[in-house]
Amino acid sequence: MRNIYSVKYSEFKKHIMGQGYPGFHADNVFRWIYSRRVKDFSSMTDIPLSLRSYLNDNFEFRLPEVVDKRTGPDGTTKFLMRLEDGETVESVLIPEKGHYTFCISSQIGCKMGCKFCATGASGFVRNLKHFEITGQILRLLENVDDRVNIVFMGMGEPLDNPDEVSMSIEVMRDWVGISPRKITLSTVGLVDQLEPLLKKFPNLRIALSLNFASEEKRTEFMPINKKYPIKRIIKVLGELPIKRRDRITIEYVLIEGINDSEKDALALGNLIKGLKVKINLIPYNENEFFPWKSPSYEKVEKFASILRGMKYSVFVRFSKGNEIKAACGQLRAQRG
Ligand code: SF4
Repeated sequence: MRNIYSVKYSEFKKHIMGQGYPGFHADNVFRWIYSRRVKDFSSMTDIPLSLRSYLNDNFEFRLPEVVDKRTGPDGTTKFLMRLEDGETVESVLIPEKGHYTFCISSQIGCKMGCKFCATGASGFVRNLKHFEITGQILRLLENVDDRVNIVFMGMGEPLDNPDEVSMSIEVMRDWVGISPRKITLSTVGLVDQLEPLLKKFPNLRIALSLNFASEEKRTEFMPINKKYPIKRIIKVLGELPIKRRDRITIEYVLIEGINDSEKDALALGNLIKGLKVKINLIPYNENEFFPWKSPSYEKVEKFASILRGMKYSVFVRFSKGNEIKAACGQLRAQRG
């Protein structure tokens, strides 16, 4: 039987019209599924009984299965979910002031091979389908209310899977009720795919995982920089039609002795001059897979103060969930 979550709205509408039902029932069914999050056709009281029975006979509700769930002292909860082919994917629920942030994955593994990332080290398995992306969100929504922000910062590079990511954002916007304004897509800078997506979703938030201000160092740690060098990314970001109050987030993971010097801070500040940005500094989340260390608190503060001195908004974000292996790709890597 077909998984109802895998069926696109246009296809579903056509399908039920082919069975002799008016198309507006498709809207109602989708509202039950995504906005009321009902997992049983029989409960859809405004749908004709015969259609409910037809749907029961032909479709099933199959969301990713939660196989591991770990909550840290700050309430951050890491979920490992199993997909229909047995592959597993990670999602994290982070409680914030007045809302929750869902950190979700767009791929199993990743092709980008960043030298400080457990997902990158574990290689690439496959792209996630749109319903496997929204499936993570629907599962997380079972735990909390609707005040959520979504960040594509879990496993994978979302712009390396642009069609399925785009489809999932469409479902979130049209049916789950999550505006693209509440969705942040974090990318290493695949700018060719960025522009079409922003045309479709002009309010989508963008975060650039920059991490280095020098081309050489970035290429050494993030091989994708050969194809999409910093210079090109910055030029494209500078030309994006960003609304007056909006900002692009620049993510910078601070690694001791690698990219955390005062010179690095100045180089970063100069590099992004003129862009409408805010900067997130993320001290490296130490783990057993890599030798890299997180800089001292004083060093992080010094780095931040240099950028603040250059009039940037700077936020230091300690990676939440260290104790529960919430850094990108770690839980999956640990379970082998
Ligand atoms: S940091 Fe992001 S883009 Fe780089 S390897 Fe990890 S998941 Fe991929």
